Amino acid sequence: MKIIYHENYNIDVGIFKFLHPFDGCKFSKVRAALNDADIIAPQGPIAEDAILSSLNELLKIQIKDKAALCRALEIPKIPFLSFSWLDSRILSPMRWGVAGTLIASRLALGGDDAWNLAGGYHHASPHRMEGFCIYNDIGISYQQLIASGELTADDKILIIDIDAHHGNGNARTFHENKNVTLLDVYNADIYPNDPVSRRRVDIAVPLPSGTGGELYLNKLSAALEQLSSGYKLAFVVAGTDVLATDPLGGLSLSVAEVAQSHKLVYQRLKALHIPTVFLGGGGYGKDSAAAMVAGIKAVSAMD
Ligand SMILES: [Zn+2]
Repeated sequence: MKIIYHENYNIDVGIFKFLHPFDGCKFSKVRAALNDADIIAPQGPIAEDAILSSLNELLKIQIKDKAALCRALEIPKIPFLSFSWLDSRILSPMRWGVAGTLIASRLALGGDDAWNLAGGYHHASPHRMEGFCIYNDIGISYQQLIASGELTADDKILIIDIDAHHGNGNARTFHENKNVTLLDVYNADIYPNDPVSRRRVDIAVPLPSGTGGELYLNKLSAALEQLSSGYKLAFVVAGTDVLATDPLGGLSLSVAEVAQSHKLVYQRLKALHIPTVFLGGGGYGKDSAAAMVAGIKAVSAMD
């Protein structure tokens, strides 16, 4: 398992830590705990034209607008925070994260499964940025790989979303593309309550708040059993906000159970011979970095 990481992934908001519960520097903690891992760094952030070509006309304008960005980032519109501050401190790290997803995809297609510590911005779509997600990294990577001929429009793609939140942005990005299969395990009692995007999910596992690890893992296993082979590439949005200690996810898994969920997913994808890209996704609590490390170690031991 190759690990994709760059120090520029880290979101350091300095004294503005109160703006969001996200530990923006958790990527460096995960990196530090993976001292013997095979780390590959993106050479730069994703190109602006790659981002712009993934957006509709309205979003091309909104993405430059401070008020719209503050709404999407779920932070108050503070007058002295400038667009350039937001861009350099928060958006630029995300653009590095998108580049990481594209690199991870290329590695997986070449035979090396990869885990991008960032990315998994599954609430963003070509029409809308929301839920601390500005760029839909899977959609942008898919578009770039089609443009370069590394994928064709007929290739079957799989997205497995085990972040606590429903991946409405991915569902909307690929709403009309039936070559993309969506499997989504999510807390149905929390954001985003989006009936249109929920209906797009091919294999849906909606769970009530408070669901613990045993039931979660049983339901995940049953969902994975429904998958067949023939996919050119699988993306796994491996958000760790399913942890009981997460302030936003509302589910109740332990660190070991999160690692087990990653293992179950990878076991199934390996059995089906599907090249795999894991992505960071959400994770806002004190144990998020530890769960990512445990998951990465669990799946790396399977290679
Ligand atoms: Zn989430």
